[in-house]
Amino acid sequence: MRYSKVLIPTLREEPAEAEVVSHKLMLRAGMIRKLAAGVYNYLPLGLRVIRKVEQIIREEMDRSGALEVLMPWVQPAELWEESGRWEDYGKELLRFQDRHERWFCLGPTHEEVITDIVRKDVRSYRQLPLNLYQIQTKFRDEIRPRFGLMRGREFGMKDAYSFDADEQGAEESYRVMFDTYCRIFARCGLKFRAVEAETGPIGGSFSHEFMVLAETGEDIVVSCDSCDYAANLEKAEIERSKTPNKEKAKPKPLELVSTPGMKTVEEVCGFLKVKPQSLVKTLIYQGDSGPIAALVRGDHEINETKLRRLVGCERLELASEEVIEQVSGAPLGFAGPVGLKMRLIADQGIEDMVNFVTGANKADAHLVNVNLGRDFQVEELSDVRVAREGDPCPRCEGKLLFNRGIEVGHVFKLGTKYSKALKATYLDEQGTERLIIMGCYGIGVGRTAAAAIEQHHDDKGIIFPPALAPFQVLILPVNVKEERLSGVAENIHHSLEERGIEVLLDDRDERPGVKFKDADLIGIPLRVTLGNRFIKEGVIELKWRWSEEIDLVREEDMVDEVLKRLKSIKEGGDDEHS
Ligand code: ATP
Ligand code: MG
Repeated sequence: MRYSKVLIPTLREEPAEAEVVSHKLMLRAGMIRKLAAGVYNYLPLGLRVIRKVEQIIREEMDRSGALEVLMPWVQPAELWEESGRWEDYGKELLRFQDRHERWFCLGPTHEEVITDIVRKDVRSYRQLPLNLYQIQTKFRDEIRPRFGLMRGREFGMKDAYSFDADEQGAEESYRVMFDTYCRIFARCGLKFRAVEAETGPIGGSFSHEFMVLAETGEDIVVSCDSCDYAANLEKAEIERSKTPNKEKAKPKPLELVSTPGMKTVEEVCGFLKVKPQSLVKTLIYQGDSGPIAALVRGDHEINETKLRRLVGCERLELASEEVIEQVSGAPLGFAGPVGLKMRLIADQGIEDMVNFVTGANKADAHLVNVNLGRDFQVEELSDVRVAREGDPCPRCEGKLLFNRGIEVGHVFKLGTKYSKALKATYLDEQGTERLIIMGCYGIGVGRTAAAAIEQHHDDKGIIFPPALAPFQVLILPVNVKEERLSGVAENIHHSLEERGIEVLLDDRDERPGVKFKDADLIGIPLRVTLGNRFIKEGVIELKWRWSEEIDLVREEDMVDEVLKRLKSIKEGGDDEHS
């Protein structure tokens, strides 16, 4: 393909609208353009990369035995009402009415639609297991669309749904998808990690997120420094102290102290001259069945997902100031466990504490020398806090490390949530009607491409992993007016195209500096440069985008050499470079 005929509107300047490298480079390389917040046009170069990601996904999904389908983007409200998500999904669901005033939404995901297909057309255990997937546009009205394709409102996703007759089958389907995802991301040239993730209020099932490690990631990947434990921050477990503090100090008499206007941990600690580790925070939540108090050490944070799971609530949120005042008898900032008549849940971290500070359930007052057991009891002492870097690993003697990551994929064992709500059943061998067990599996297509750029770039531009590159070879004659250069460039271009290689010929009448800058920016793996050395010595320069090394090849050897190099990179599993 000729550069002059392709729309590649590269930008020299850093686009002001972009914060992260991948977004900046996708704009600068002329891959994408913004149409509205979180809604993008894919220009030729960008689309080629997206198609590469999709093709890898498609090949690996097909290889796993999954079947490709295509479901509509527009979905009727009734299906969402059946699952209960018309209510629950919130504002990310873009809803609209047709001319008959019937409600619809733009699909943010397709559990309802796929379950509807299966409940209508799958009757017998003989039709199971089944795994159906699609590569489709999704719409989620994200509160903060940002980072380009990384968090769009309209974005491409591969979503797959498995249907099994029993738990064992469902676990096998999950395992197959897990392995398939590992192959997909490895083929995309990504360094990734599968981490344990939260399963939400459904519980009991399992879930992993596939994280690409990158500084700009929005997620935190928690991993052990010595074993292979890894989880996202929401899920990361904390080991209960293996060596409980037996040498505890002696409890001192409980004391009420005046703390006028001191509400936050910082204020109280400053005022009483104690460390946050010697204070216990009391947070009051409103759950499905009334208020709940959660206790956690002053320097720790409550993990609401863990708390919600422990107390068995679907919904749990911090109580309003009014509720707090009503149940504790004191304004916000002064609640404490002593004398508090409600469900009390404590983080296990307070087990070892002696003579700590808490609120006094009284305005402008705190209690000091509070002790668990002597002064108050709790219903549960469990892991309900957010992990911190350096915490002990829940699986071994190691310590937890924190890294930033980008979630590119998610595998999730759903169980019967949707089959129950939408009544998707099958008849087993005995003719008994049973619920189908489901799993769902998503990959963000644009996010995967963006993540690849986050991991593969330098200060000059993108360094595409060959498997995702829009072209494999760029031919760069430094001066197209020089007939010898352009003639040979044309010949090599022609020969490579004939052999099915994706090659871009920079046939523009531009200064060499402009051409080299664009070449580095758009990141095509192999560059063939025809310059002065060709005129003087008859040699052509051959260079990988990720290396400074330049090899000199004669014109007659060039096509074979290019083919050989591309083959070697393919066989090397696409990860020789970086
Ligand atoms: P996040 O926590 O990042 O919002 P999610 O949990 O909502 O992700 P899923 O519903 O599991 O994501 O969607 C499957 C995949 O779709 C994600 O792993 C991600 O790669 C991609 N994805 C989700 N939301 C977006 C988005 N707004 N823009 C681009 N890709 C997205
Ligand atoms: Mg989301």
